[in-house]
Amino acid sequence: HDYRAHVSVATGVGAMQTLLIVALMFERRRRQIAEQEAQRHLDNAAHLDRRATLGELSAALAHELSQPLGAIMHNAEAAEMAIDSGQPALLELREILADIRHEDSRAGQIISRMRALLRKHELDIESLDVNALTRETIALVVPAAAEKGVDVDMDLTSNLAPILGDRVHLQQVLLNVLLNGMDAMATLPQATRRLLVRTDHGDHCVEVSVKDVGCGIAPDAARRIFGPFFTTKAQGLGVGLSIARSIIQAHGGRIYAENNRDRGATIRFSIPFNREARPAA
Ligand code: ADP
Repeated sequence: HDYRAHVSVATGVGAMQTLLIVALMFERRRRQIAEQEAQRHLDNAAHLDRRATLGELSAALAHELSQPLGAIMHNAEAAEMAIDSGQPALLELREILADIRHEDSRAGQIISRMRALLRKHELDIESLDVNALTRETIALVVPAAAEKGVDVDMDLTSNLAPILGDRVHLQQVLLNVLLNGMDAMATLPQATRRLLVRTDHGDHCVEVSVKDVGCGIAPDAARRIFGPFFTTKAQGLGVGLSIARSIIQAHGGRIYAENNRDRGATIRFSIPFNREARPAA
């Protein structure tokens, strides 16, 4: 029948395009799954063995990511060859390819940045005074805060019990949270940009919180902001909080975010006390 012939011709014309698009979408999904798996590995490793080195964790993540990245690149090249061989009007396909290329190099950047950040292989655990650590870290962001017109206030509880932790890695966590708070207030009038950093006793732990008056976190994003590659910033990589969470978990602590009642968000993390340093009961 004519009808059947027509259908089969139409199918033939679109087949190449459809196949390529399906293949590309399949690759995307595969990459998403690989990313989720990488985060699970990271979580499991941090949970099962708190002494696991962060260098090992980043190597595992890099390994998990490099396979789907290679496959995406392969597909992108194959699709480009098909376009260049004279098939007409595949502009849309080109756009998808450009997008995939962009994602690919972005993920590559993430890997190299994570490697650079975590080059220090062992956790260097010592007894730490969280207030001193907080003061030191705030001193590091004073220039950035001045440039962005942000007031940074401190409310540090005195006589906090010491914790066991890695000074450099914990500073990295706090630094990231402070810079995120500043970013969140970028569109506010300068006079109102303010961060409040608090330290306090928690349940067998010390808590550090950073409160801003910025844009706050969308209701569906409160948990996702700690996942890898989640970002709402044009230039963001979305790995800062993911690394922060791994570091805090490696210390046996917790990190979470909540919106303030009035405006802005508070990011809070806790680190268990150094039990050995506490006076015998
Ligand atoms: P990046 O800063 O590269 O985006 P992060 O992992 O540090 O990566 O942060 C992930 C996302 O979490 C940010 O893009 C932002 O959407 C959200 N976020 C983090 N901190 C805050 C905050 N204080 N207020 C509002 N949103 C925040």
